[in-house]
Formats: sequence, C-alpha cells, structure tokens
Amino acid sequence: MHPPTIVILGTGGTIAGQAESASDNIGYIAAQVGVDQLVAAIPSLAGFGSLITEQVAQVDSKDMGFEVWMRLAARVNHFLAQPAVRGIVITHGTDTLEETAYFLHAVCRPAKPVVLTCAMRPATALVPDGPQNMLDAMAVASHAGARGVVAVCAGTIHSALDVQKVHTYKLDAFSSGDAGPIGYIEEGSLKLMRNWPEAQDERAQAAIKFIANGATLADWPRVEVVMNHVGAGGSVVDALHAHGVQGLVVAATGNGTLHHELEAALLRVQAAGVKVVRATRCLNGRVLPTPGDVLPDSKGLSPVKARIEMMLELMATS
Ligand code: ASP
Repeated sequence: MHPPTIVILGTGGTIAGQAESASDNIGYIAAQVGVDQLVAAIPSLAGFGSLITEQVAQVDSKDMGFEVWMRLAARVNHFLAQPAVRGIVITHGTDTLEETAYFLHAVCRPAKPVVLTCAMRPATALVPDGPQNMLDAMAVASHAGARGVVAVCAGTIHSALDVQKVHTYKLDAFSSGDAGPIGYIEEGSLKLMRNWPEAQDERAQAAIKFIANGATLADWPRVEVVMNHVGAGGSVVDALHAHGVQGLVVAATGNGTLHHELEAALLRVQAAGVKVVRATRCLNGRVLPTPGDVLPDSKGLSPVKARIEMMLELMATS
C-alpha cells in the first residue's frame, strides 16, 4: 500500500511571479518560478507526505488558452485515476482562475479534491501570500472527505461554481457571492460551512470524448461574450455572426435586460442558428426566468462561466 500522495501541478500566475524589487507588488512578471522551486521554498510542505510536482504550463493566466486546458484536464484525469493520489493542487494565476476551475469541474468531475490556488503578490515580495495559500490548499487537498474542484485564496475555500475574482489588488481577491464560501482554513484545519461542489455527468462525457479524440484549437466551438450598456447596438453581434460565431453570451444589465437594438440583433442571430444565453453583468444575483423568455438565461452562471458551459454544450452536439 503506497502512502497517499498529493500532486502539485504548476501553471504559472503571480504565485510564480518575479519582480526586480521585493517592495514591488505589481511591477512583476508572472509565471517565472518553477513549481519545484515554489515547493522547495515551503519546507513545511514535507509534512504532507508524498508529493509529486509537474509543470503543466508556465503562463500569466490572462493568456490561458484551450491548449493548456486540454493538457491540464488530461493530467488531472490521469492523476485522479491513480489510487495512491489523495488530491491535486494546481497553482494558477488569479485573473482567469474561476474559468479554469469551472472547466475542470465540468470535465473532470473529481471524487477527490482538486484545489486551485494562487497569489496576489509575486514570489519575490517582501511578504508574499503564495506560500500560505499553498499550505492552505494542501490542507484542503489532504482533508478526508474533500472532493470536487475548489479554489483556495486568503484562507477561504470557494466552489468552482461560485468563485469570482472581485478585487484587483487585495489579497482576499475572491468571492463566492450569494452562495458564500464552502469554508475556511484556520491553522491547517478546515471549518466547513456547506457541501463540496457536485459535478454533473452528461457534459463531461462529451467534452472528454471531444478532447480525447484529438481536438485541436480550431475545433473548439467559437463562443463570445458581448455586453449590454448605454447605447448598446447590434453591430458587434452582426459582425461576430458574419465571422462564424456559434454562440453568444450576453452580459445583460440587471435582471437580464437588454437595449432594444442589441436585443433585436441577438434575436436575429438566434433565429439564424446561433446559440444565445443571457447572463448578468451584476456581480451578485442571477437572471430570473420569466414565462415566454425567448433568450434563455444562464441559470445563475456568470458571463464567463456561461461561455464555458455553452462551449461544452456545443462540443456535445458537434
Ligand atoms: N495576471 C496574473 C495571472 O493571472 C495575476 C495573478 O495571478 O494574480 O496570472
């Protein structure tokens, strides 16, 4: 019987960032320090037992792309299938962490914990937040009963379904909105407030098949996000349609409201076969459906997560 192993996958981000001066928290280059070096800088990680580290990518997460996603999902699924692996920690930039978390939640459906963690300050900062976030993520990954894809930042555990970056600078940069966090990490112990995220099966099968069948970047369904705002017209929608967009998520105002010109364009392209979903640009709350809605709502997903959901649906039907 092997001892339980925690796998740490590096993808880059500010947690692996380097600045020229220790007092510079924003003028750094993300994704410079290798995952082995990050781990070596935290001697107490040895207390978690057997570790495997792997550098899956080294990117600023503003540049995250489908190629890395496919590689990451494949590695996560590979390690999840190993009986000796208890959980996985993924170091990631904060900018698109919520999108990668949602994607992995949908395509990996882990019965073990997959914990994305990050930092708001580079590794070279006088007081970096990455090492504590990493320790907290390890506490979650090795917690008996933990499962599903979650994000850990500033002592808080967020579900992949709800997590959103809500601050540009503060160390506690994420929120779970109305749902609230799954729990907190206090000196290595978990204080749980609600259940671990549940995964849905159907989309995962289709996405896994899509990825396993050697999907290339060109095969990924093209789904874009457009926004409602004062004076929003239909020309962007028409231009995207002319460029072959397959789906559009509109970040609507309030409870899914749209400028009449934008709405007319969305209805036009919907009638022509483009999938259209209404999310809200409000940080909290969901678009509440009303009888007779012609443009369906995003079922509580933020615009960027609704986009991933739509891509997965299009993969399933392509
Ligand atoms: N731009 C960085 C990234 O997302 C920001 C961060 O990690 O905090 O990789």
